[in-house]
Amino acid sequence: MGAIPKVDSIWMDGEFVPWDSAQTHITAHCLHYGTGVFEGIRSYETDNGTSIFRLDAHMRRLVNSAAIYRLDLSYSLEELCQAALELVSRNKLVNAYIRPIAFNGVYSLDVWPKDCPVVVAIAGWPRGEYLGAQGLEEGVRVMVSSIRRFHSSMIPTAGKACGQYVNSVLAVQEAQQQGFDEAILLNMEGNVAEGSGENLFLVKNGKLVTNDADASILMGITREAIIKIARDMSIPIEIRNVKEAELLEADELFFTGTAVEVTPIRQVGDHTVGDGKRGPITESIQATFFDTVHGRCPQYSDWLFYVSERQVIA
Ligand code: PMP
Repeated sequence: MGAIPKVDSIWMDGEFVPWDSAQTHITAHCLHYGTGVFEGIRSYETDNGTSIFRLDAHMRRLVNSAAIYRLDLSYSLEELCQAALELVSRNKLVNAYIRPIAFNGVYSLDVWPKDCPVVVAIAGWPRGEYLGAQGLEEGVRVMVSSIRRFHSSMIPTAGKACGQYVNSVLAVQEAQQQGFDEAILLNMEGNVAEGSGENLFLVKNGKLVTNDADASILMGITREAIIKIARDMSIPIEIRNVKEAELLEADELFFTGTAVEVTPIRQVGDHTVGDGKRGPITESIQATFFDTVHGRCPQYSDWLFYVSERQVIA
């Protein structure tokens, strides 16, 4: 949370450069039109050293986002994964956040980014909880935003592009201004979409419910992991559209995402969710999630990419 702490080096266009040298010019196309794509990835401490959680899935999504925006990455999936592993190792990162980005750089400011060079970089820095340690335990307070999540016919929601985050920024600014921690955005149909940077799950009568791509959400990599974990725990799960009213009827609500991990929601507007604290199903899923990312669940070891091992990923 908050200010980014400076570390030694950043991987930029194929080499490691000192933190302060990883710069771009004011006329970069992406700065004006948002024509970049990015990822958010976490690394965690385990008994076998630092591991990057689902590095392969995140880099695959980056490659896919780049294809949507016709950004020529010049680096293979394998090269990007190895660069991220080496970045963590060089900067001696443990519990950290890793931010790959690829964007149209400096050449022209025509809207069509023809012939703009594509800059590819990966930065990483130590990072704790996104909505605070207290949020993970006690839950956060959210409001339903007046800002709607854009429909996938307007901007492909499968991609994670820089410019599309103005939608999220407006929603979270509104929520913070009204004293809430985070916003929930409805989609163009008026159903629940997601948070400004996270997916949403609800629990009703012991059943887990979440939406999917039809609701114009970003298909979160944490969301997918939680669905697998819940199924393995024999928690029934329904994947379908979620009506706004269901937020008020739910026994438990929680967010999932790389930044928020698994964060309970204790209030929606002036409505208290369940007992107003982290619910039992949320708590057990959250505990398994943290055991998984810290390497304590052998059945999910495929999701961990150890910095010391540098296994071939692609
Ligand atoms: N939705 C949005 C809009 C996001 O920005 C994110 C964070 N990438 C998520 C959902 C959760 O995705 P993930 O679990 O892959 O981090």
